[in-house]
Amino acid sequence: MNFLEAKILSDAVVKPGNILKIDNFLNHQIDIGIIRQIAQELCQRFSDAPVSKVLTIESSGIAIAVMVGNLLNVPVVFAKKSETANSTDEKYLSQAYSFTHKKMNNVYVSRPYLLYSDRVLIIDDFLADGQAVHALIDIASQAGAEVLGVGIAVEKGQQQGGRMLREAGYRLESVAIIENMDCQSQTIRFREQL
Ligand code: 5GP
Repeated sequence: MNFLEAKILSDAVVKPGNILKIDNFLNHQIDIGIIRQIAQELCQRFSDAPVSKVLTIESSGIAIAVMVGNLLNVPVVFAKKSETANSTDEKYLSQAYSFTHKKMNNVYVSRPYLLYSDRVLIIDDFLADGQAVHALIDIASQAGAEVLGVGIAVEKGQQQGGRMLREAGYRLESVAIIENMDCQSQTIRFREQL
């Protein structure tokens, strides 16, 4: 069992609707030690990838992405879910259905922050049905940037996102993959990773 699986077993709460609550170390309060370890693990798994930019989506992906960007010493761009009045830049636009908020979000990145020459590592906290990651891949492809891979803290293996990305040929690394979880008994089982 790795450090993140152990942390999930000790701290996470399984909520109805296949939601894992890890507010005390990732989604509300941020445990810097755990986030640092997640980032180090992802950087090690992508150590051969010549990443020029880290791309994530607000808000919970940002903490991990910043830590990864810090280790790789590359800029971090986060896609926004609402258009701000103070940005007049042209934007790349995609859409993602939010698994946790049950609504469709527009997702934006200002054009100057993603270039044709960029080699992108996509980072997010959770992978469920893959909506958020697909929106980020769409935005990267609109920019003509190359997606080198996708790094995730917690993949929920019983949802389709991971399978779809792997079948589409993307390099996907998840620090913890949940095989199944049950909110009645509060049991969580992880997929074995080599
Ligand atoms: P997807 O787009 O892959 O369906 O869902 C991923 C996004 O939804 C992540 O960015 C994450 O914020 C949120 N999410 C999905 N499942 C969970 C979950 O079980 N717990 C939490 N805290 N967030 C989740």
